[in-house]
Amino acid sequence: MLLSLALLVAAQNDCAVETFSREQISRHAVAANAYQFSAPQDFHSVGFIFEGEFPQAAVSLDGIKWPLEVAHDLNEMQTALVHASNNQQRAITLHLPSAHKLTALSIYWINSAAPSLPSNATKPPVYDRASWGANPPSCAPTYCATTHIAMHHTASASEYNSSSWSQCAANVKASQIYHMATRGWCDIGYNYLICPHGDVFEGRGGGDDVRGAHDGSNCGSMGVAMMGYFHAPHNQLLNNAMQDAFIALAAYKCEQQQIDALGNSWYAGYADIQQNIFGHRDVSSTACPGDLAYAELPQLRQRIAAIVQNEVIILDTALATFTGNWNTGTTSTDKYGADYRWASTGVSPARAIWTPTITQAGDYQISIWWPEGGNRNPSTTLGLMLNGRLHTAAVNQQMHGGQWNTLGSVPLPSGATTSIGLANNGPLGWVVVADALRLVRQ
Ligand SMILES: [Zn+2]
Ligand SMILES: [Zn+2]
Repeated sequence: MLLSLALLVAAQNDCAVETFSREQISRHAVAANAYQFSAPQDFHSVGFIFEGEFPQAAVSLDGIKWPLEVAHDLNEMQTALVHASNNQQRAITLHLPSAHKLTALSIYWINSAAPSLPSNATKPPVYDRASWGANPPSCAPTYCATTHIAMHHTASASEYNSSSWSQCAANVKASQIYHMATRGWCDIGYNYLICPHGDVFEGRGGGDDVRGAHDGSNCGSMGVAMMGYFHAPHNQLLNNAMQDAFIALAAYKCEQQQIDALGNSWYAGYADIQQNIFGHRDVSSTACPGDLAYAELPQLRQRIAAIVQNEVIILDTALATFTGNWNTGTTSTDKYGADYRWASTGVSPARAIWTPTITQAGDYQISIWWPEGGNRNPSTTLGLMLNGRLHTAAVNQQMHGGQWNTLGSVPLPSGATTSIGLANNGPLGWVVVADALRLVRQ
């Protein structure tokens, strides 16, 4: 895991750092109080060892600035570890307060290329489109952040009685032709199909989180079709192989997107709160996925939750405390929940602060959702009040709207003592948007 000790930098007092020769970064490239380091290879995490007084540092990577929690270990070394959200990182910027005294710094570039998911929630084997001879889609793929999983049935009793893999694959191909030629869609509607033998077939082309056409809402939901007819008059049963395949696929997606298998949340395409794992009939006037499959959903959710074991806390707009001048907005379609608040920058202070109640102390991943827009502050200030200390970060609200933007993981104490929020700091002319906060216990 630990690939290289890339550098040992001797620094002088305050910010008068003379050289970064090991990184080949010229003094002119180093902004005041901000030091840029390039890694020798892609990395996922960065470990720091500091010598000197080192309060209130922050690090930028992944396009986000986040506080560095410097801890003293048993040997009185000051260390910190930060994680990026993917393995394609090549550089960081270290931010220091102006009065720091840094005497030496070691940086460990860590490439944790091992699977980021627990082995019990890895993606199950999937037969890809090539395996069943898919025709190319007649449209370009579009994407929404996956927040929900929809169960369907194909309402084809004969599919349930297929005896071989080839027959199932041919049935998937037939569904594609039906959806494209008969219904006039640009590709098969479902994201995945599960045959009675428990085999999982890739549906809609474009990859894992591509937007399908399956429940009338589509943006935000992964459509999984069970191949059979689980309703009168056929009343076929969702057999164990199909249940196990559905559980494996859903657990993988819940782990990847930090979806609470037992919870509910804002379903963007449906424009309402919806159970995170639902049946087609929950959002449309249809019998799908059939009474006998629908009846299995509660125990399926329980078994998926037992695999994923995440604890998700979502606080929408109304649960924040607002001070200063805020306006209610509803028009952005990539909002979380029915509305959001916005405030102008460069005027008197405005703050939106969530104070979640933590029932179990532990490491929590912190994510923020906002609707994006060209008038947003590209450097919106986020604040984390933790153990009596304020840490700040900056995010660009002009992009990455309509999804959970993960800022990092921090250890949180139990109780309602930690506050997370955002402020309208900045030059005149922008707006900041307060929409929703998510905490996921790791
Ligand atoms: Zn359906
Ligand atoms: Zn099969």
